[in-house]
Amino acid sequence: ALPSVAIVGRPNVGKSTLVNRFLGRREAVVEDLPGVTRDRVSYSASWSGRSFLVVDTGGWEPDARGLQQAVADQAERAMAAVDAIVLVVDATVGPTATDEAVARVLRRAKVPVLLAANKVDSERAEADAAALWSLGLGEPHPVSAAHGRGAGDLLDEVLKVL
Ligand code: GDP
Ligand code: MG
Repeated sequence: ALPSVAIVGRPNVGKSTLVNRFLGRREAVVEDLPGVTRDRVSYSASWSGRSFLVVDTGGWEPDARGLQQAVADQAERAMAAVDAIVLVVDATVGPTATDEAVARVLRRAKVPVLLAANKVDSERAEADAAALWSLGLGEPHPVSAAHGRGAGDLLDEVLKVL
């Protein structure tokens, strides 16, 4: 089977936009409203001559346990199902309680976890990414899924661990 990477994180951080960036095509559904992506959707991608699967996540039914638990549970399920994980955080917002809850789950993942600091649309915004070191997942990789900035570098890092 092809190696797989799951893109996880709270709603509206740009997971589906990043998936499309990784695919080089617009296939994952991007929405201005949070929570639109169905639970898990995988797409085939290739980069630097290698083929792999990208799994988009989202689409929580907000229930009694709340969003934070739902996002953490989804990260937990992804961890068991794929070969690597990219946690996407909105660097313009900084780490939220939900980001921290997901990071706590991912810190005990047995697969490699990369941290994407998304919405770093300009060089000036790169300082925002540094605040995400506090999540305890290593170096935050600044990226702008919307504009493509840093996406190639992030994919290079993903392929190194895949
Ligand atoms: P998801 O819920 O995590 O899958 O997030 P989406 O990919 O659906 O994106 C949520 C919103 O964030 C949309 O309005 C996107 O256009 C916007 N967005 C995604 N990536 C970026 C980015 O790099 N920069 C900016 N400024 N906006 C972004
Ligand atoms: Mg989505």
